[in-house]
Amino acid sequence: MELNGHLLIGAEDVAATAGTMKALNPATNLEIEPAFAFGGAAEVDRAARLADEAFDSFHATSLAERAAFLERIASGLDVIAAELAQRTALETGLPVAQLEGEAAKSATQFRQFAEVVRQGRFRQAAIDAAQPDRQPRARMDHRLQKIAIGPVAIFGASNFPISYSVAGGDTAAALAAGCPVILKAHNAHPGSSEVQGRMIRQAIEDAGLHEGVFSLVRGGGNEIGEALVDHPLIKGVTFTGSEVGGMALYRRAQQRPDPIPVFTEMTSVNPTFVLPAALAARGHDIGDGFAERMLVTVGQACLKPAIVLAIDGPGYEAMKQAMCTRVQAMPARTMLTPGINTAYRRNLERLANAGAARIAAGGDPQGVWDGQAMLFEVDGARALEDASLCEEVFGPAALVMRVQDEAQFFALARQFHGQLSATLQIDTGDHALASALLPILERRTGRIVINAFSHPQEVSYASIHGGPFPATSDSRFTSVGMTSIERFLRPVCYQGFPDALLPEALKRANPAGIWRLNDGALSKD
Ligand code: NAP
Repeated sequence: MELNGHLLIGAEDVAATAGTMKALNPATNLEIEPAFAFGGAAEVDRAARLADEAFDSFHATSLAERAAFLERIASGLDVIAAELAQRTALETGLPVAQLEGEAAKSATQFRQFAEVVRQGRFRQAAIDAAQPDRQPRARMDHRLQKIAIGPVAIFGASNFPISYSVAGGDTAAALAAGCPVILKAHNAHPGSSEVQGRMIRQAIEDAGLHEGVFSLVRGGGNEIGEALVDHPLIKGVTFTGSEVGGMALYRRAQQRPDPIPVFTEMTSVNPTFVLPAALAARGHDIGDGFAERMLVTVGQACLKPAIVLAIDGPGYEAMKQAMCTRVQAMPARTMLTPGINTAYRRNLERLANAGAARIAAGGDPQGVWDGQAMLFEVDGARALEDASLCEEVFGPAALVMRVQDEAQFFALARQFHGQLSATLQIDTGDHALASALLPILERRTGRIVINAFSHPQEVSYASIHGGPFPATSDSRFTSVGMTSIERFLRPVCYQGFPDALLPEALKRANPAGIWRLNDGALSKD
């Protein structure tokens, strides 16, 4: 696919209005052709107007039509996967094979959301039929369904440049809900973004949909993101990235004359609690498994386990030694961007200044943006004195907390802010302690995992990628999985409607054949 670096505003290629940039190959520190256009508020306005024009017809597509559209994007991803992985690898330093896996995961997500649309359960149709004879007051016919919130802005993530970027999970969920999407491309992978964006645009044309269903914009500073969040025709925002950036956008959206929801996924250290019986029985294996997991994708994953806590006792030294061995054997690898690498180095200093001792280091950096694997250790008492030790270090580093006793274990568990996930390593002898820990963790995390190291995020109905602040800005929702569609929906009740005016999901004969709540009972009636 030929890249021209233009913004994709509906069906039109739009040249730069606010300067250009070139992608950086972080492995070589050299720029890559071509130049990519920056736009500004005027381009956002154009894309938002088109998205608004597209809304009614896109939202009115039948479940079958919309599902077929999502499958077109999935097939498009299959076709471009190899080329996309090559370009993305150049721009991110991530291995081609890993990126091919991401493209396949993305295609699967679009197919899964096509199925969600076909089933129609996302509509959450509920019918309370009229009761004209009810005393003391007749009940009108009430019918409820969920509809799309309107055009939305999606900020592509830097760390999953395909599966959570342009053609990623947020876009799949928003389009499935019926929301036109304006994608704010991340400047860490502009060529990859264009390849994905052009493929989506082709799918829109092939499906005969309005061109405003998708646009891709890019900017050279905060202006473009701010213009998106401020635009009166934008009705929702999703974001993956830093807490500073996410909260700036969240607060901005709440200052609008008409505040809109902003779903941010920001920061998590995903603590692992190793309980005494498990530690004594499997200390070495736990340390080895933890360290392997923390180093995946150069530690640049939202689910990286960054902190492990264990009460000092039998198995502790074996766990620590296994972690050190793995970290020492790890060569330094290219990080995603100069900014992420700089923040990583700064955070390593922060840990050391807060009293954590460096106990292992991986191979020395060879390239300028390489991240060196690191392992730190700190006493539980010190960690309780300085809560900054519980904050995220985005990159291939982790912190071992040597805990004195159960009381300190509980105090540290209570000190964590909101998390995407927490893990317990337990054996049968740990069940009493685990039961006491669980209520503390339930209040602080979206997901609790038992006895696993490598727990990549499933995209399924029961999966959750969310949690209390600062993991996300809204703990009621997930940004991954089939229920992530709920971020893009709102309920509407239709009262006293004749059948002819009812939407497809609520017609009396249920032509869509979907599950509905009839007076509180689930059926296909
Ligand atoms: P970021 O700096 O927060 O940027 C994410 C996106 O939001 C970019 O497109 C950025 O645009 C935009 N943006 C950020 N702040 C903005 C503002 N105030 N106004 C308007 N737009 C704004 O995140 P990043 O570049 O991906 O990585 C930086 C750090 O974020 C990492 O070092 C890491 O700590 C954290 N991070 C965490 C996760 C996680 O899942 N936990 C994932 C990724 C990153 P520009 O690029 O144009 O500025």
